[in-house]
Amino acid sequence: MQIMRGRYAPVALYHSAFKAVPVELQSHLHNIRPEVLFDQMRYLRDHFDIVPLDHFLTVKRAFRLAAITFDDGYKSVHEHAFPILKELKIPFAIFINGATLQKRLFWRDKVRLIVNHQLISEFESQAKSTKKIPGLSFYRYTKDLKNNSVRVHEEIDQFLAAQKITSSLKNHCMEDTSEFIRSPLITYGNHSHDHYLLASLTEEQQRDQIYRTHSLLQSISGIKVSKFFSIPFGGLRSFNESTVQILKSLDYKGILLSRNHLNFGFRNLNGLRVVERFMPDDEPMSVNLDRILGRDQQRNLSDLEIMAMP
Ligand SMILES: [Zn+2]
Repeated sequence: MQIMRGRYAPVALYHSAFKAVPVELQSHLHNIRPEVLFDQMRYLRDHFDIVPLDHFLTVKRAFRLAAITFDDGYKSVHEHAFPILKELKIPFAIFINGATLQKRLFWRDKVRLIVNHQLISEFESQAKSTKKIPGLSFYRYTKDLKNNSVRVHEEIDQFLAAQKITSSLKNHCMEDTSEFIRSPLITYGNHSHDHYLLASLTEEQQRDQIYRTHSLLQSISGIKVSKFFSIPFGGLRSFNESTVQILKSLDYKGILLSRNHLNFGFRNLNGLRVVERFMPDDEPMSVNLDRILGRDQQRNLSDLEIMAMP
């Protein structure tokens, strides 16, 4: 396993970094506690060269390289993860959703709120355009291709307004442009405006989603901005050909997926570099890597390739 360890590039995907996850978010939230993050980062630093993410735009081989990313722009990343990464001198990237900076609550947190308040059947009895999909939980079907995310979000907002419980939900993600940190270690990136399932949207809606956060990032002086776009939900069916064309028109050079894979080399999709990421859990980093590596090695190699656009 030790020999194999040099032959791939792990790109870690984290989300929040709360010491203790707030009650209203305790469902489906991928959180890394700061002390666990510290151990995982130290391990990666000792076994890999941790490079700024955009380095992967230029390299062909993945040997011994690693990168660190955080999606969704949780404030806890600035608060608890940054001090650790600064101490260890590790570069990392934060992919934000512009909507949270307009004081709009992250719609997936609203989904979590409905789950945690046991309001799923009530929502379902009132929902008109959000389609229930047999075999999928509420959490899953609200982000399925068959449901246009814009309409699902509108319906959730109407429901929550009537329930009068939205006030119990705080914005845990970046709220103000003053929160951006200018540090040589940090690169910020575009994760779309609202974190909708892009493939469920019209081309115009997609363009709007990608462009709004793109221009927001361009307007902040003194920060580094990534040429990667982090695909919300990060699957092969989370985006489509229109997404790729829009990204290329805005001069993006790569996309980030979140399919729990390592990179055994890099490939391009219609001119965009594709980087796979994995989501570490609370286990030591070596355990995480061995698990993902074992799974990736067992898969048919073609499964790791993008065979065709969805
Ligand atoms: Zn995300």
